[in-house]
Amino acid sequence: MPVETTKYLCQFKCGKKCVSNKKAMETHESTCWKNPSVKSCSTCKHEIYEHDGCDHPELAGCPSEEWMNRSCKKVESSLFDKMMNMKHYRPYEKPENFHIYPIVGCPFWEAKLSERNAEKGTKSVEREKHCI
Ligand SMILES: [Zn+2]
Repeated sequence: MPVETTKYLCQFKCGKKCVSNKKAMETHESTCWKNPSVKSCSTCKHEIYEHDGCDHPELAGCPSEEWMNRSCKKVESSLFDKMMNMKHYRPYEKPENFHIYPIVGCPFWEAKLSERNAEKGTKSVEREKHCI
C-alpha cells in the first residue's frame, strides 16, 4: 500500500521544487523573487531582462556563447548599478556564474500590469547546432 505524503509548492510559481517542510516553503516564499511584496525586478514593470546566446560554427569545437543583461527602464544605469551593489537591496550574494540576480526591495518598484508570460524569463536558450 503506497504511503500518501503532502508536499508544498511555491505559490508564486517560481520553479522551485516542491518540499515536504511547509515552514521551509513559507520561508522561501517570503523572499521569492516572484512574490510581489518582495519588490524585485522580476515582478516590476520597469524590468529589462535579456538572456540570449549564439553558436560559433565557424570556430573550432563549435563553441556556444550565452549572456544575460539586467537593467531598468526607470532607474538610470549608474544608479541601478549602485543599487545592485548595496546589500540593502539584495539579500543574496552575487552568484558565481554569469546570472545577474534581480534587485529586491526596490523603492522604484511598480507591479507589472500583466503577468510575465510563461516563456519570458524561464525560457532556456535553444539553438540549432550547426556542427557535423
Ligand atoms: Zn518561489
